[in-house]
Amino acid sequence: MTQGVGSKKAGQFTESVIREMTRLSDEHDGVNLSQGFPDFPAPDAIKTAACAAIQADDNQYALTWGATPLREAIATDFTRRYGVPVNPDTQVTVCCGSTEAMLTTLLASVDPGDEVIIFEPFYENYGPDAILSGAVPRYVTLREPAWTFDPDELAAAFNDRTRAILINSPNNPTGKVFTPEELGVIAGLCQQWNVLAVTDEIYEHIIYDGARHVPMATIDGMVDRTVTINSLSKTFSVTGWRVGWTIAPPELTGAIRKVHDFVTVGAAAPLQAAGAVALELPDSYYRGLADSYEQRRNLLMEILERHGFNCYRPSGAYYIMTDIDLTSVGAVDDVEFAQYLVREIGVAAVPGSSFYRNTEFGRTKLRFCFCKQEETLREADRRLAQLGVQAIG
Ligand code: GLN
Repeated sequence: MTQGVGSKKAGQFTESVIREMTRLSDEHDGVNLSQGFPDFPAPDAIKTAACAAIQADDNQYALTWGATPLREAIATDFTRRYGVPVNPDTQVTVCCGSTEAMLTTLLASVDPGDEVIIFEPFYENYGPDAILSGAVPRYVTLREPAWTFDPDELAAAFNDRTRAILINSPNNPTGKVFTPEELGVIAGLCQQWNVLAVTDEIYEHIIYDGARHVPMATIDGMVDRTVTINSLSKTFSVTGWRVGWTIAPPELTGAIRKVHDFVTVGAAAPLQAAGAVALELPDSYYRGLADSYEQRRNLLMEILERHGFNCYRPSGAYYIMTDIDLTSVGAVDDVEFAQYLVREIGVAAVPGSSFYRNTEFGRTKLRFCFCKQEETLREADRRLAQLGVQAIG
């Protein structure tokens, strides 16, 4: 055959390792601490609202850029929390999850040959998103233990071809919450080089130890050059609903809406109706969410440390990045360790290398998620007791 069957673009990235780990976990009846989705129920209010919307026959296409009540709820919520005016008619686009929101934003704002800056370790979709939009990803490394970036290294990544920078705070996989000072450095460079900030804030409400979430759109001079991405998934424990959104400057929203329309037409209508109801939950709901995740974080930290993992304590999101001792089980790298863990021990985690362009940086790391019931975490604890008893043969 003279021609490959896939496109050159598709040839530049691999299948999602996170989703692959979930499949492997299911195959081996594992405790799945790999893909980040809750194994506990969503709030009654959002489920009841979704059922009611279906019964009321809210079952046809919503407005392609999002049902009016949901867009209004998104705009009101953002303005109330952060004091930034948002016009639901000209700035909000509802998408099929933040996954589509991110890809659609890049397809709508980036041209082939443009460069997109991505911090690594990254959430693994960002690289393929940049490539699918025709852009060249450029990586800047966040370095442990505090997952800080070197401002000079970041400045050196900007140039005339830079079109966008992707930020994810609270961060997956590290749990880092970017400080206002760090956001200020990024903002200064965006303004200097006329670059768009695309900011994935899906873990906005999952934040610990008194840390505060600061949206990029609130940083001086950024509101007109920021696309804020969020979703119902993590805040309301409905990752399978696929309802996310963008808040963007009006000049860019037209392009985002066009791309979104041709990619997916729209997100599920009854679930959008339920989202509008969920966004009206009282502040006590959000406090309860953060508190319950803080307890789960503390529990999994304690378990992992007891079993010999060196943990980086997350300030937000629901993952713990760990350093592993490869020699304890005779593994050559993180991938072999993760395979051993799921096949022999029955606990699934994500190999650290899948969050880095330079896989060497992740060779001794594994990511565990703790968006799980206490009993699930305790079962992982029991299984991890077998760690190293039977090393890789
Ligand atoms: N955000 C979750 C994770 O990082 C799930 C991502 C996904 O599979 N869509 O594990």
